Amino acid sequence: MVSRVIPVDPFDLIIFGGTGDLARRKILPALFRRYCSGQMPAEARIIGAARAEHSTAGYREFVAEAITEFSDGRSCDDGTLDEFLTCIDYVQIDARGEGGWSELVNKLTQDRARAFYFSVGPGLFGDLAERIRTHGLATDNSRIVVEKPFGHDLETARSLNATLAAHFKESQIYRIDHYLGKETVQNLMAVRFGNVLFEPLWNSQYVDHIQITVAETVGVGGRGDYYDSSGAMRDMVQNHLMQLLCLIAMEPPAKFDPDAVRDEKLKVIRALEPVLPYHIVRGQYDAQQGDTDAHPSYREAVDNPRSTTESYVALKMEISNWRWSGTPFYLRTGKRLAAQSSVINVVFKEAPHSIFGPDAGRHANVLTIRLQPNDGITLRVTIKEPGPGGMRLVDVPLDMTFADALGPEGEYPPDAYERLIMDVMRGDQTLFMRGDEVEAAWAWTDPIIEGWETRGEVPKPYASGSAGPDEANLLLSRDKRKWKGINP
Ligand code: NAP
Repeated sequence: MVSRVIPVDPFDLIIFGGTGDLARRKILPALFRRYCSGQMPAEARIIGAARAEHSTAGYREFVAEAITEFSDGRSCDDGTLDEFLTCIDYVQIDARGEGGWSELVNKLTQDRARAFYFSVGPGLFGDLAERIRTHGLATDNSRIVVEKPFGHDLETARSLNATLAAHFKESQIYRIDHYLGKETVQNLMAVRFGNVLFEPLWNSQYVDHIQITVAETVGVGGRGDYYDSSGAMRDMVQNHLMQLLCLIAMEPPAKFDPDAVRDEKLKVIRALEPVLPYHIVRGQYDAQQGDTDAHPSYREAVDNPRSTTESYVALKMEISNWRWSGTPFYLRTGKRLAAQSSVINVVFKEAPHSIFGPDAGRHANVLTIRLQPNDGITLRVTIKEPGPGGMRLVDVPLDMTFADALGPEGEYPPDAYERLIMDVMRGDQTLFMRGDEVEAAWAWTDPIIEGWETRGEVPKPYASGSAGPDEANLLLSRDKRKWKGINP
């Protein structure tokens, strides 16, 4: 099935930090793919901005190299890359200085959508927002895009929101959580609200519990400094896992419109119960046995032998509302785990009564939503074990891998950044976090982190390549439940 591509109107996109890692690995390749698909028009302008000196030709070369290196095997022919490069320009700007801004003004076209992508550290957001205003670059049809981390705690998130609000309206601010751009995450809403099958059962009467796992095989890599001052709770749970939880748990919005969706997500965050200390397990990975040079321990990787920062968190969460009271949500995420996978398991209750007797066996239905790899959905249903024996029950998967069902390899799925950048240019904020959502998530997260600090808690060690610390199993076994396998 070939997807329908609706071209966006010509736009100007200015990437502050246009020479950085995120621009190279994600933003520029995503734009190129949208160009190849016919969605980004040839009249659009992409202007990189940073302190480094580049001629237009030099920056185009930089962009071409980034695209060649990070196109994930998906490419157009060389001619198309050359055409795309004619959309690219560069201006030398220091976010804290006054040089280069008038040159930038001259490169922009009036009366078209304009986006300023802040692909720089959050310490520069205020400087950029202010100079965009004072140099007269902000029009009514302008928007800014900001990256994670959005704050370090509630106080810093509030201050960042206030800084941006001094120069831009909330309707112009696009806070990226790239998880929301993943095709399967959007499919969560399609599955829930586009089918009559699931929604009647989507509550504590029928759902026993829900598991959300985001597992990474990689360690902290070159991000040691940042990560050690952050940890898995701030880096993953407060934003990505929280967003997944919201989409799973929210009430149906009246329509698929930015504020209707975000209002419902906010209600979920506000209904979260504070988490009890014994409902959270923190972990820190050890070096990989037999390969400590290639895979050092967390503390060696961040060069901090006393670090108490967690590279793993598992927790039990409860939502106090009519729909979910009594249904726990178990979340876990970590680095250096056995598999690279993001999976949601909705585990339904067993049938209330078995007509087949105690020997037939009983199985709960499980709806598994795989965000990666092999994006898709599996529903485990109970059937009779084939054969002439007695009536014995087994559960088998009804499987739909989206790539098989929806299109040939390479055409599906688009990278999250492709979708999100096009939404920015279309002016659609549905898949971006609103300021109050981010603050509510920090308000829930802060006491947990403060509790660890007050109690001087040290994370439990876990073996690299495992499913995390053994203590995480207790979270569920205490409730007579078990984690589903971490392997996709
Ligand atoms: P990076 O590789 O360090 O790049 C930073 C960029 O900002 C460079 O282009 C740098 O170029 C520019 N810059 C620094 N100071 C500047 C100034 N005073 N004025 C103008 N430009 C300046 O960082 P990154 O990894 O791309 O990350 C950018 C942002 O995205 C950060 O907030 C990060 O947390 C976030 N993020 C990154 C990733 C990722 O995968 N990399 C993922 C999620 C979020 P010059 O030095 O030439 O000025």
